[in-house]
Amino acid sequence: MRIVLLGAPGSGKGTQSKLLIEKYKIPQISTGDLLRAAVVAGSDLGRKAKSAMDAGQLVSDDVVLGMIQERLSKPDARAGFILDGFPRNIPQAQALDAMLARLSQPLQLALLVDVDTEVLMKRITGRRTCSNAACGAIYNIYFSAPKAPGKCDKCGSILAHRSDDNENTVRSRLQVYEQQTAPLVSYYKAQGKLRTVRGTGSVNEIFKNVTDIIEVQMRPLAAAMSAAQAAAAKSAPPKPAKPAKAPAKAAAKPAAKPAAKKPAAKKPAAKKPAPKKKPAPKPKKKAVKKAAPKKAKKAAPKKKSAPKAKKKK
Ligand SMILES: [Zn+2]
Repeated sequence: MRIVLLGAPGSGKGTQSKLLIEKYKIPQISTGDLLRAAVVAGSDLGRKAKSAMDAGQLVSDDVVLGMIQERLSKPDARAGFILDGFPRNIPQAQALDAMLARLSQPLQLALLVDVDTEVLMKRITGRRTCSNAACGAIYNIYFSAPKAPGKCDKCGSILAHRSDDNENTVRSRLQVYEQQTAPLVSYYKAQGKLRTVRGTGSVNEIFKNVTDIIEVQMRPLAAAMSAAQAAAAKSAPPKPAKPAKAPAKAAAKPAAKPAAKKPAAKKPAAKKPAPKKKPAPKPKKKAVKKAAPKKAKKAAPKKKSAPKAKKKK
């Protein structure tokens, strides 16, 4: 599965991503992690990224895409990946599509975890964390309040409220997200790859919906795509299973009959070569498709009446 995850801060997409990683054994590719790792490793891309960051600039899309491409070449990404936090805009989405097309690994799903803004506001601004680092219990004054206000149920320590979780900061963060993501939603919708899952309810309920989307909607598509690729690889003419099967069956019958008459011939041997030998009927079929040869064929058995029919016309 090759998935891009879309969702606001507080949407819970990180939790869903972790569950997807476990279930489908595919890695999450986080551009932040890639950047840090590349800088530490001192690779070409890492040095480019570092010089940009040292200069207080954004790392260019080319560098980020190069890192993603490198990451995709690792064995654990063969079965797919989850991209989170990238792309953030249309040019990045287009560049990603172009890169994945070169690798013949196009995205299969853009999954949006959708949560109403007011719920997001409460999720983030209501968050309280136990100040005792050894405990670290997390509460939410709206959804999972501690029994005593401001005190940890488990250890009695004071609950802390992150300063950047205040209402104004969060609202502007969500606005930035909305501005960035809305065009991406349209972009993937136009490609037919967008699916939306409601990000409210229990984690398991949401994950059930996520896996339903993947199993029901994406798996058959993936199977069809790989079947089409296999068919294309087998025979140079891209006409797949159906036209090939029909002549094969027709050919099998006459081939089997002589085999039965001659006990010396082995039946399986007779059957197997017969279907394979039949590229010949293909031109016939093509001819049948055209209207004119059809009439000619129908007319052929009735040789004597055929001229009459033509005269009538
Ligand atoms: Zn505590």
